[in-house]
Amino acid sequence: MPHAGAPISRRALLAQGAGIVVFTLAGGAASQARASAAPPDAADDAFGMLVDLTECIGCRSCVYACQEVNGWRGDPERPEPDGEQWTAVREVAVPGHPDEVRYVRTQCFHCLDPACASACPVAALRKTPDGPVAYEADRCIGCRYCMVACPFHIPRYQWDRALPLVAKCAFCARRLAAGEIPACAEACPTGATLFGKRSELVAQARRRIREHPDRYVDRIYGAVEAGGTSWLYLSDVPFEKLGFPAVGASAPGEFTRPVMAKVPAVALGVAGLMAAVRWLEGGREAGEAGRPPAGKEREP
Ligand code: SF4
Ligand code: SF4
Repeated sequence: MPHAGAPISRRALLAQGAGIVVFTLAGGAASQARASAAPPDAADDAFGMLVDLTECIGCRSCVYACQEVNGWRGDPERPEPDGEQWTAVREVAVPGHPDEVRYVRTQCFHCLDPACASACPVAALRKTPDGPVAYEADRCIGCRYCMVACPFHIPRYQWDRALPLVAKCAFCARRLAAGEIPACAEACPTGATLFGKRSELVAQARRRIREHPDRYVDRIYGAVEAGGTSWLYLSDVPFEKLGFPAVGASAPGEFTRPVMAKVPAVALGVAGLMAAVRWLEGGREAGEAGRPPAGKEREP
C-alpha cells in the first residue's frame, strides 16, 4: 500500500478497497497542499514558448498542427480549448478600435509552480524538469480539483464521454523527449509562436520591448503571473483588454489552499470510489468490445 502522499494509480485504488481509499486520498490531499509551498522543480534552462501577438495572423496553423499530432477532431475555429482540443485561437476586437482585431492563442501556460499539481490529491499532474506540466490519465480519479485551482481556467473535462478525463495542452512532451519542437511552433508561419529555453525567451522578449517601445506594451505576460509560467506573451494591447486573466505574482498556495481547505476527506473518498467503479465498468466494457479501457487509449 502506498504511503500517504505517494502517487497512486487507478489500479492501486481499486485494489486497496473503499475505506483505505478515503484515508489515503485525504492524506494525499494534505500532503499536496503542503507541497504547494515548495519551490518549482523545473530546471533553469527548461523549455518555454513566446507568443508575440503582434505577429499572429490568426491562420490557426497551430491549432491544425495540435489536432494532427494529438489525434483531436473538431472545429478549429472554436475560441477556447475544450475537452477535445487543447489549444484555440480567439479573435478579440481591440477596445476603442472596432476595425482592429488581435488573435489570442490559449492553452495551458505550464506554470513553473502549477496550482493544478498542488491541488491534485493523487499527483496526476506534475511539473517536469524540461518545462511541460504532465498529466497522467492513469492516476486521475476525476475529482476536478485541478480545474478549480488553475488561475487560468485551463483544464477541461470531457463531459460528453462515458469515461471522461481531464484535458489540457501537454506541451508536446513526447516530441520534446524525441528532440523535436512542439508541433504548434513548427507550424507557425510567422514566428508568432516561438519555442526555446525560457530564460532566452524572456531575454528576447525584453529586447523586443526595449528596441520597439512603440510596438509593445512594457510587460511580458507570464514572466511573473502565478509565480511565472513557461508560456510567455508579448502584445501591443494591454493584456487585460484582450481577456487575459488578471493573475497576481503569487505562486499556487493562493489558489490551492482555498480549494484543499474545502475538501473534506469523505468527499475525496467518494470521488475515488466513483472513479473506481467507473474504471471497472470501463475495463469491462472495453474488454467486451475488444479494446483498451478509456484512459489508456490516448494519454497526453
Ligand atoms: S495553466 Fe493551469 S493547468 Fe496549466 S500548469 Fe498552470 S495551473 Fe496547471
Ligand atoms: S481531476 Fe484528476 S488531475 Fe485533476 S485534480 Fe483530480 S485527480 Fe488530479
